[in-house]
Amino acid sequence: MKDKLIETYSPEETFELGRQIGQEAVPGSVFTLIGDLGTGKTVFTQGLAKGLGITEPVNSPTFTILQIYEEGRCPFYHFDVYRIGDISEMDEIGYEDCFYGDGVCLIEWADLIEEILPEHYTEIRISKDLEKGFDYRKIQIKEKLA
Ligand code: ADP
Ligand code: MG
Repeated sequence: MKDKLIETYSPEETFELGRQIGQEAVPGSVFTLIGDLGTGKTVFTQGLAKGLGITEPVNSPTFTILQIYEEGRCPFYHFDVYRIGDISEMDEIGYEDCFYGDGVCLIEWADLIEEILPEHYTEIRISKDLEKGFDYRKIQIKEKLA
């Protein structure tokens, strides 16, 4: 994917962006999502899941770091590492099978586990700019290569 800057003005637009990216995502891709609480990481994730063909509801897993969806055209590994205490919790979950497997991974709050991110991933940063309205979001997409 090319590096991009997208501006959205509603949750629906952010969902739609996620859906398009999910539709084009190839198995083995890793997406990282970075942004403050309430910026729309989960809204984007729900769109991406839809794009993969998942119809069951996708939410932020509150007490589990990883939620796996098998319903789409490839496995979808949804991580939300907001509450991670120690990086060793990722080993316990068996994250490597997800990062280096044949599904699509998405990691909310990926900046908290930077040291174990794979060599290549797509970073998505979401931020607000209240001067542009309460529902405005700036979404920066960047290919990262070690
Ligand atoms: P996060 O997962 O980053 O904590 P959520 O996706 O759970 O955030 O929540 C984002 C909130 O912001 C939702 O209530 C959503 O309706 C609202 N919102 C308003 N404008 C937008 C927008 N342009 N894109 C995404 N969400 C938006
Ligand atoms: Mg969330």
